[in-house]
Amino acid sequence: MRGGPSRAAGNPKYCYEWVFVKPREFVVLNLWHDMFEEQENGKICINLNSRKYAEEVSGVVKHRATKGDEAFQLAVKDKLPIRVIVITGRRRSRPTEKASHVEARLLDPISWRITKYDWQTGDCTITRGEEKFVDQFSIPEDTGGKPERRNVSGTAFVRNHFVRTNVLIRAQGKCEWCNETGFKMADGKIYLETHHVVPLGETGLDTESNVAALCPNHHREAHHGIKRDDMRKILLKKLADLYRR
Ligand SMILES: [Zn+2]
Ligand SMILES: [Zn+2]
Repeated sequence: MRGGPSRAAGNPKYCYEWVFVKPREFVVLNLWHDMFEEQENGKICINLNSRKYAEEVSGVVKHRATKGDEAFQLAVKDKLPIRVIVITGRRRSRPTEKASHVEARLLDPISWRITKYDWQTGDCTITRGEEKFVDQFSIPEDTGGKPERRNVSGTAFVRNHFVRTNVLIRAQGKCEWCNETGFKMADGKIYLETHHVVPLGETGLDTESNVAALCPNHHREAHHGIKRDDMRKILLKKLADLYRR
């Protein structure tokens, strides 16, 4: 079955010519420079949906688009960095047009990462630059104490990853209990621990309004301290205030 070229052209976000996966290490994407978008915070990102695009095209282009979506899923699951080869030149707007004209290909020295992936639809956002903030689950060999989400898998795991990342970005490296900056790791990143204020096992939700970024000391205290019930109430109030319109 052939996809109509007009529908394909309706998705100008077709953005890569080729994708290359080095399992457990990185994904390389070729991206056209005109795909880049600047976010309000000054970060560069691209938004695309390879899965949707694959449904609209046929042949080798379909194959590539499908491979692209598979690569994004792998990058999300294995937290792989994305290396981007930036293509400049004239890009064809639909597969039936004559081939694109590539002027230059440059390997971006900065690595990218997937900052949003919708498992249901395939909508994907890839952002330029490293994560500056990490938590206990970013360190593969270290669970940072009590694992709160060891049994979370599949879609829930992916969602959880983005919730944690967004909470760490919200906290900007400062404990949301004491406001002190987390310690700096050997690789320069700032460490805090993410904590479900109401535990998942107690009907707590895996959402940003139920997850706090805490320094290791206050994280332990939130679980085991004599004040833990008060801490829970105060943290919940603080988070509720943050998300109140
Ligand atoms: Zn603290
Ligand atoms: Zn916790």
